[in-house]
Amino acid sequence: TEAAYRERTPTSERIYGELVEDIPAGVASTYRAFEPYPMIIERAEGPYLYDVDGNRYLDFDLNNGAGMVGHSHPAVTDAIRDQLDHGTLFTHPHELLGEAAREIKKRWDVADLVRFTNSGTESTMHAIRVARAYSGRDKLLKIEGAYHGVHDYVLLSKAAPEHKLGHPKRPATYVESHGVPEAIEDTVEVAPWNDLEAVEEIMSENVNEIGALIVEPIVMNVGMTQPHAEFLQGLRELCDEYQVPYIFDEVKTGVKVAPGGAAEYYDVEPDLVTMAKSIGGNYPVGAFAGREEIMRGIEHGTAHYGTYNGSPLVLRAVTTVLRDVLTDDAYDHVNDLGERLVSGYEEIMADVGLNGHVEYVNSQGTVVFANERITNYRDFARHVDVDFHENYWFEMLDRGVLPHPHDASQQWSISVQHEREHIEDHLDAFAEVAPLLAD
Ligand code: PMP
Repeated sequence: TEAAYRERTPTSERIYGELVEDIPAGVASTYRAFEPYPMIIERAEGPYLYDVDGNRYLDFDLNNGAGMVGHSHPAVTDAIRDQLDHGTLFTHPHELLGEAAREIKKRWDVADLVRFTNSGTESTMHAIRVARAYSGRDKLLKIEGAYHGVHDYVLLSKAAPEHKLGHPKRPATYVESHGVPEAIEDTVEVAPWNDLEAVEEIMSENVNEIGALIVEPIVMNVGMTQPHAEFLQGLRELCDEYQVPYIFDEVKTGVKVAPGGAAEYYDVEPDLVTMAKSIGGNYPVGAFAGREEIMRGIEHGTAHYGTYNGSPLVLRAVTTVLRDVLTDDAYDHVNDLGERLVSGYEEIMADVGLNGHVEYVNSQGTVVFANERITNYRDFARHVDVDFHENYWFEMLDRGVLPHPHDASQQWSISVQHEREHIEDHLDAFAEVAPLLAD
């Protein structure tokens, strides 16, 4: 409960009170602020986070899903330490660029060419730009409720408050932040997830206008909303028919749902792919990659620059993660643990008669305290009781388990440093919490 949380975290409360004096909302990314105050983290190791009051949390949030290698993975740390002695930033080219790019090319068939960035936001921004440059058209088509970072062109219709829900087949386009010009709305169309007909309608009404389609192949800022069978392939065919570059935003799915991300998992080939988070082993890096003829636009007037792009420091992390840490055995390990976590949740909910089910793909999943399956943002808004879910979150925290970020729309992740005993600890906590929720 919130009361128990307050009792356990007096030092966090004090330090947070100081942080808000210097930093808006006391956090480095506004998303991280929550009531009554976030816990202040002192250190992290393996599968654990430790706060300044000495509380230990078994971490299934893993930095919004970025930490598939777990905290301070020894192999990644060694590589970084070694690089510290050889220079951390060269703006001149170096061989690690090719080494890291080749690791990405091994995983994604579509990755003929690769460019590195510093975040998911930069990756989607540039992928959209090269797509628009290639198609020569200005409009972006995105999915209602989908999050692709914070640049102006994607900070639209990522949530659908009641008064803006509009027609279910034709969601309203609206900017989602003060400071984003409303004129942006004229350059973005929004479609509901899992509705091929709606997408086709938009494409046919905007022939020669849609310059790119961006989708997150599993909508992971709406729980774990999977594509219906054939939906992603259907989009592929529509993109071919209307000659629209097709972008998979694999910032969260990439290297997690399968070694080659959702493109491999669903066996659908986009034209461009964006990634960040888990490719960097908790270092700040992103990438975008795609078909040669689209990516070569960067050599002919499509801008992609950045002082910190492809620094040797983060690329040491990338090559270590992709080559040495996320091996086939590592995938077997986290996927087995994911399966155990899901079946454990299902058993416990059935035992205590708690309404709900688990949505998951391999090592990522979330409990949905509703019987209805969530197929798109609107289902989520309608069926997920965020207060109920928050209660679950605080109760789990009281038992030393951080199930996911503080938000019902998020999901658990499992790292290569989690072991079976950590999954059992998570389930033991849920076995105590479930009866409280069922009451
Ligand atoms: N795309 C998706 C699908 C994401 O989940 C996120 C971050 N949660 C981003 C893009 C933005 O990535 P970053 O926070 O690294 O800018």
